[in-house]
Amino acid sequence: MSAAIVTLKPGKDQSLRRLHPWVFSGAIARMQGEVTEGQVVAVHAHNGEQLGMGHYAPGSIAVRMLAFGPDVPAVADEAFWTEKLQNAYRLRHSLGLTGEGATNVYRLVHAEGDGVPGLIIDVYGDVAVVQAHSAGMYLARPHIAKALQTAVPGLRAIYDKSAETVPQKAAPGAQNGYLFGESTGHEHLVQENGHRFAVDWETGQKTGFFIDQRDNRALLARYAPGRRVLNTFCYTGGFSVYALQAGAELVHSVDSSKKAVELTNRNAELTGLQDRHEAYAQDVFTFLKDRHNQYDLIVLDPPAFAKHLSARHNALMGYKRLNVAGIKQISPGGLLFTFSCSQVVSMELFEGAIMAAAIEAGRPARILHRLTQPADHPVSLFHPEGEYLKGLVLAVD
Ligand code: SAH
Repeated sequence: MSAAIVTLKPGKDQSLRRLHPWVFSGAIARMQGEVTEGQVVAVHAHNGEQLGMGHYAPGSIAVRMLAFGPDVPAVADEAFWTEKLQNAYRLRHSLGLTGEGATNVYRLVHAEGDGVPGLIIDVYGDVAVVQAHSAGMYLARPHIAKALQTAVPGLRAIYDKSAETVPQKAAPGAQNGYLFGESTGHEHLVQENGHRFAVDWETGQKTGFFIDQRDNRALLARYAPGRRVLNTFCYTGGFSVYALQAGAELVHSVDSSKKAVELTNRNAELTGLQDRHEAYAQDVFTFLKDRHNQYDLIVLDPPAFAKHLSARHNALMGYKRLNVAGIKQISPGGLLFTFSCSQVVSMELFEGAIMAAAIEAGRPARILHRLTQPADHPVSLFHPEGEYLKGLVLAVD
């Protein structure tokens, strides 16, 4: 069977030649052969030269590239997947994340950052959790599951958690479940920098844990000793656990989800220091309203305020409003750890919003650190959009 071919308009081959992995629908001149959602297609320049191959989808991003060049076969078989996943594993291994060390939870595959747009794989000890964000990746799950068993030594189970992330029309009725092996019970203990966490990938948000804050939590641990810490949007209490174990005087955690507050309490219990911890199931904006300079260190780590470019302006207003409220509650000389995980909000824009917040709160502030996502969430140089997490640590006078 010969592969379907997507041919680009004249001049629309430039970004692909620079290895940017997306083909927008407006760049396509014609399609040959039967092209269905999720199918692997060859992409040709207007002169007929093959530029590579990728997964087709009928949206604004029409092809997500899996390989570049004139010689790549227009198929993605098990050997193809094994090579991709072995490369991904090799990097994490070289980063010291895959051994029996202090950390056994890491991101194995970070979509475009690992040359596989639309695919996320997180590893929790000996279990991998797969999330397909495109029809192409969803259809490739049998290959991916096999290749994972080859690429990751000692894997006991693979859980597919794509039901919430795969486009609904492409996979109606998609259900989460095990692609290989199984697990007993819901609570699984993992370790991050030596801190223990109970994770539930079946019922938790995303794949169960926000792995992307690992390095930033470690930084917080350096500054937490003796401080009164507030961790807002705490989810499983990642920052709270680090603060407790680092010797914070007290830690308050806030999340609007009751389930998140239960998880945070459970994880605080695992530290044995829960008498210094209090968790509140409350809206963060409401919570911040009636506090007065109570904290020496505040973490603001909200969910993405902008999922699309069209929402960016409102998101910036949201970050400003949240940070005004947060900054007001910091004691003089205190620290603010503030984050945005909106991909469409650049560091420059985020910094502008935080500056506006400090002005409105009437508090002088200095930048001590600029933060981002850790090395197991790599960003392709050719796809700078992959850098989604931005953070600032401010000293607030
Ligand atoms: N900081 C966390 C991840 C945050 S995820 C970590 O390190 O793991 C975002 C969290 O914000 C979710 O748990 C969600 O329940 C919570 N949330 C969203 N809107 C909220 C609001 N208005 N008030 C309080 N919590 C909120």
